Amino acid sequence: MSHRVIPVDPFDYVVFGGTGDLARRKLLPALYQRHKDGQIPPGSRIVAVARTRREDEAFRETVRTSLQEFLPGAESDGCAVDAFLAMVSHVAVDVEADAGWQDLAAFLAGAEDRIRAFYLAVGPDLFGKICTGIGRHRLVTANTRLVIEKPIGSSLATARAVNEAVGSVFAEDQIFRIDHYLGKETVQNLMVLRFGNSLYEPLWNSAHIDHVQITVAESIGVGSRAGYYDSAGALRDMVQNHILQLLCLIAMEPPDSLDANSVRDEKLKVLRALKPIGEDEIDVCTVRGQYRAGASEGGAVVAYGDEIARSESATETFVAIRSEICNWRWAGVPFYLRTGKRLASRVSEIVVAFKAIPHSIFPKGSGVIHSNRLVLRLQPDEGVKQWIMIKDPGLGGMRLRHVPLDMSFATSFQARNPDAYERLLLDVIRGNQTLFMRRDEVEAAWAWIDPILEAWERSGAAPRPYTAGTWGPSAAIALIERDGRNWHEDSG
Ligand code: NAP
Repeated sequence: MSHRVIPVDPFDYVVFGGTGDLARRKLLPALYQRHKDGQIPPGSRIVAVARTRREDEAFRETVRTSLQEFLPGAESDGCAVDAFLAMVSHVAVDVEADAGWQDLAAFLAGAEDRIRAFYLAVGPDLFGKICTGIGRHRLVTANTRLVIEKPIGSSLATARAVNEAVGSVFAEDQIFRIDHYLGKETVQNLMVLRFGNSLYEPLWNSAHIDHVQITVAESIGVGSRAGYYDSAGALRDMVQNHILQLLCLIAMEPPDSLDANSVRDEKLKVLRALKPIGEDEIDVCTVRGQYRAGASEGGAVVAYGDEIARSESATETFVAIRSEICNWRWAGVPFYLRTGKRLASRVSEIVVAFKAIPHSIFPKGSGVIHSNRLVLRLQPDEGVKQWIMIKDPGLGGMRLRHVPLDMSFATSFQARNPDAYERLLLDVIRGNQTLFMRRDEVEAAWAWIDPILEAWERSGAAPRPYTAGTWGPSAAIALIERDGRNWHEDSG
């Protein structure tokens, strides 16, 4: 894997929440890596905005510590870190108290011609106030972009309110709604597999595909994000954004080009074609779960309610959904979605299961003929496996085996696997919105999610318990087995 430097002009990256967890774990390490690769031109500036004032030097030392903590040892070596820290500064702005804006305006003054990106790595309750402050202090230039993180709302109505608030200051072509899943290598590869090969596209429809599975499983619990997570739950936290975005890329029609609006127009059509799941189908098409005490990551772990010190919580930490897309290409093909915390292992993958062969010519005793599967692994070990039937080599008659053609990116391409944020942060500077969500996409996703939330709310049923370290409630297994199918297990 080689990294290419696509020249960009010097820029200013202003990170609101630049001292927070997201900035420390992801944004600053990603910018550092691109700087080390030579992708960030001299003269560029990274400004961490936060409420609490810090001395510049002390702040830079905390960035150094973060790089050491969140990058593999050899990546954060002395000289490269010093050069990176020289472009990092801190400005204190308390957006709630409306203080410090003049300092930020003074910092940016005189650099109106360069590309300027505002990254809002803060809670969504501050998005509106920050945009208003940016507008009022005339910090929006012709070359300004705004990046916002999930969660964009917690329902269609609240998402609209967020979009209205940011849209009152920034034009849609300046707004970059980030979903870091779209920056992952395998997700990019999904588009190349589909549209860079003539092999798959003729088969990519209900005539040849039996079903699709999307799994985003985490082995960790809620960690330090308990407050947010308990108010959100797995459906809002994972399905509304990451999983539906993956579903769109699998199911969309071929766009005319990789141009942002061509791709986003096609994704939007998929979201609008999702079959609504209402009250009458909620029990057969969805499963909510919440973990109980068990064993995970090599040790005993407590139940979700104990972990967040709110034993009465009815928030789901697991969800499985049987969804369908109502159009000619996908009619009758189920898309099974599942995600959860404290599951048996950390794995994110897309499984495209092809239909069984119509007739076997092989004698009894040759072995079971399994259907072909294309498995795209997003994490860990990003890669692609195409499961096929082959003859077991050697004499002794026809013996059939199901084996993967296996391409692991780490072993096939001897280079560092970049974090998704590295690509996305620089796409913002390049003004490329292809991997970012448009307003109508976000709202269409909520329009499908809202009725599920409402039906759950009306049913009043508690989430089904599952033991931490397993694959979720048994009802999630029943959800797919009722259709005569199984969740994919990688035996290769
Ligand atoms: P965090 O660790 O709590 O950091 C919050 C940041 O916002 C701090 O830098 C804080 O500055 C700043 N801030 C808070 N109130 C402010 C105010 N009134 N004026 C100016 N700055 C203020 O939060 P986080 O985990 O980084 O998350 C940030 C956002 O990203 C959230 O919306 C979260 O849902 C989203 N997100 C986070 C992750 C993740 O992995 N952490 C992943 C995806 C999305 P002080 O330190 O000075 O208070």
